[in-house]
Parts: sequence; structure tokens; C-alpha cells
Amino acid sequence: MATHEKRYVIIGNGIAGTTAADTLRKNDPNCSIDLLTNEPYPLYNRVSLPRFLQGVLAEQKVMIRSLEWHEQRNINLVTETVVTSVNTDERVVVTSDGKHYPYDALLIASGGWANPLRVPGAEGTKHIYNFVTLDDTKDIIARMLESRTALAYGGSFIAYELCDGFAMRKLHTYWLMRGPYWLRNSLDQEGGEVVDNIAKKFDVEVIHGDEIEAVIPKDGVPSYVKTKKGREIQADMLGVGLGITLNTQFLQGTPIEVKDGIVVNEYLETNVPGVYSAGDVANFYDKTIDAHHTMGTWDNAMAHGRLVAVNMAGGRQPYIDVPTYTSPLFDVNIAVVGSAESNNPELETIARREPGEKGNDNYRRLFFRENKLVGVLMVGSPKGRRKLVDIVKSQQVIDTAAAREELLTLR
Ligand SMILES: Cc1cc2nc3c(=O)[nH]c(=O)nc-3n(C[C@H](O)[C@H](O)[C@H](O)COP(=O)(O)OP(=O)(O)OC[C@H]3O[C@@H](n4cnc5c(N)ncnc54)[C@H](O)[C@@H]3O)c2cc1C
Repeated sequence: MATHEKRYVIIGNGIAGTTAADTLRKNDPNCSIDLLTNEPYPLYNRVSLPRFLQGVLAEQKVMIRSLEWHEQRNINLVTETVVTSVNTDERVVVTSDGKHYPYDALLIASGGWANPLRVPGAEGTKHIYNFVTLDDTKDIIARMLESRTALAYGGSFIAYELCDGFAMRKLHTYWLMRGPYWLRNSLDQEGGEVVDNIAKKFDVEVIHGDEIEAVIPKDGVPSYVKTKKGREIQADMLGVGLGITLNTQFLQGTPIEVKDGIVVNEYLETNVPGVYSAGDVANFYDKTIDAHHTMGTWDNAMAHGRLVAVNMAGGRQPYIDVPTYTSPLFDVNIAVVGSAESNNPELETIARREPGEKGNDNYRRLFFRENKLVGVLMVGSPKGRRKLVDIVKSQQVIDTAAAREELLTLR
């Protein structure tokens, strides 16, 4: 019987897709790997984009991989090419230029694209930005250099990063969000106040519980925004962080299960043989909380990429990890460990706020499921984070209130 080398196709060259390609090549020198992306660049570090935005990191430092890196490993990186459909019967991926990429195993690591601002006056008006790609960042920087006022919109991580970038570049900055406080799926009122106070130190005007009703453009650029509560805010540019829509449109008409992301088991396999998913777009089974969920963090996407490659090549390793996320938050840090989602009714939480350094408060919130620590959120000092990560990993039982309280002050 004729045999051929194994053919792998990967949709998306973010950290999940590129790590998978690298791992596949390391384990099999003869396979073919097509790595498809609509973006014009090889892998760059999305986590570094905020520091590039603030002007503290050069563009070259954002790039992680070069075209040569792919050539040396015989990874066929196909840029500026949109995947339009997948035929799981024929095992072929189709792109917008009509090309067909046949596969034996397919990885979908397509992440998500930012939701645009959809209010009257926004469409067709310039200088309203999302913040996901390197090109977004370059466009925002160019506009910041000619602006004096800016508005960051939303209660998400991305909205905060935009706000931070505007403030660091000394624009007069408004931060407008619908919710009662930032990151309302993870923080509580106390934690929200801690973050507000930090933002105010950087002269950011924080506005809660209001929404943009309309953008009022003048000569095709925002002149001011009108809010539902009747405020009028002048802004030379708007940064929008209203969440992302996961990139699964090209799977329409396939039997691949899509529900809040691409549904995969602990081996990152979809319900269709030979098709896998990893990174932000994967709604994966997480053993630590015994449930499916998506997770938008760099470490999670990288670990998924490594593991899924092993399984695509015939291995059978379950994904068991505790992803962590740390990011500067103005002049302090925020750290998220594991599952820190207070909108999950199965999780119980406790929190503590105490005076910290530089006039800021420290805030810590812990998330428990069935007497086990499954998530941690820390604003301010990161002391104790590693120990808490180990406790989450160990899955030890913590069944008294006193033992839980102790973790709130663990250093
Ligand atoms: C500004 C910013 C700051 C962040 N900061 C942090 C942080 O501090 N810490 C942290 O842990 N995480 C952070 N994140 C999140 C982290 O970057 C993501 O979790 C991670 O990059 C996801 O990687 P991925 O490979 O799953 O997807 P992505 O990086 O989204 O890659 C998917 C790729 O697939 C491409 N694609 C999608 N659809 C198609 C299609 N139809 N055809 C062709 N190509 C397609 C996309 O354009 C993209 O290039 C940040 C994200 C952003 C945007």
C-alpha cells in the first residue's frame, strides 16, 4: 500500500499555531506543515504590544520569529491568506485565493478578532481603534502622536491596556465602561476601587455605568462621543475593548462542534477525527474545574500548542495545566492564576484589600471549587503568587474558613 509523509495544516500562526508547528517539526523531520495566517507577519508577541504602545519597547523586540526561522524548519508559512472553509470529508482547507491545502491532521488555532464599536456615527469614522494586532498598534501610535485627548472604552483587559497606553503618552484620558467596575467577571467592588484609584493617580478620568450612545464625527474623525447618560466627551481618538469574537466562521457547514469556541476534549481533539483546536479559540475540558471553558492567555495558548502537536502526531497526552497571566497595571501588577471567573456559579470566592506600596492598595481574590483553590487574582504586590500557583496545582483540600483566610495573606 502506498504511504505518504504526514500532512499537517495549521490555521493561525499565533503562539498556539507556531508552537505546534515547531513541535511537529522537532518530532518528525519528514512531515509537511502548512501554517496559514491572514496577518502579514511571522509570530510576534501580543503580550508585548502594550509596551510597544506605551513607547517603552521597540517594534523589533515585539517580533519573535522570522521568515528564515520557518524556512530553516521547512514550515510553509503562508501569510496574508484568509481561510474561508474546511471540508472535513475531503480533509482539505480552502483559502480566499482558491488554494486547497489537504491534511491528514488539522489544527485550528485561529484566536479571536476584536468586536468593533457599533453605535451611530462609528461606521466610516476614522481614529476608532481595536487593539489586537501589530498593525492596530502601529495605527494607534501614529494617531496618539497627533492627539491630545483619548477615550478608552470597555471593562476588559484590552480597554485597560489602551487606557494605560493613552495615559503613558500623556494624553488626557477618559476610561468609560458600562459595568460598575473594571473586569467585572473577576473583580468585585473593592477590587474595582483599587484599580480606579491607581488609574486616577495617572490622571485618568474613570466613568462607570455609562455607555457610548453615538459618536459625533466632524470631517470624518471623532469630535466627541455622546453617552447614554447624556455626557458629551471630546476625544481625538477612541480605543475600543469590547471583547472578542472567536474566529470560527470558516467552520460553518462542517460537523465540527462550535459552542463558545471550538469544543475539544482534554486531548484537544474536536468531535471530528483528525481535527484539533488550541489556544484562545479552543473551548477545552479543564480537569482542574471539571468543565469546559476558553482561556485567553499566552501561557495557555503556548502550552496547548506544544501538547496538541504531540497528540496530532499520534500521542495521547491530556492537557493538565494551571495557566497564569501577569501584566503591568499602571505602576503595579495584576496576576491571574487558573480560573478566576466570578460569573461561574460553581466557584466560591473570598477577598482582601490592604494598604500596599506607592500609595496603592493590594487586593487579592481567591476562587474555590469543592474545597480546592482553583483561581487567584492579585492586584498590586505579587508576593505569594508562586506559592498560590503551587497550591492550585496540588489540588489539596482546603476545607476550613481559617485555612482559606490564611491564603489571603500568604507571602
Ligand atoms: C494587546 C494584548 C495584550 C495581551 N496581554 C496579555 C498578557 O499580558 N498576558 C497574557 O497571558 N495574555 C495576554 N494577551 C492574550 C494573548 O496574547 C492571547 O491569549 C494569545 O496570543 C492567543 O494566542 P493564539 O495563538 O491562541 O491566538 P492568536 O494570537 O489570536 O492567533 C490567531 C491567528 O490566527 C489568525 N486567523 C484567524 N482567523 C483566520 C482565518 N480565517 N484565516 C487565516 N488566519 C486566521 C489570526 O489573525 C491570528 O494571527 C494579550 C492580548 C492582546 C491583544
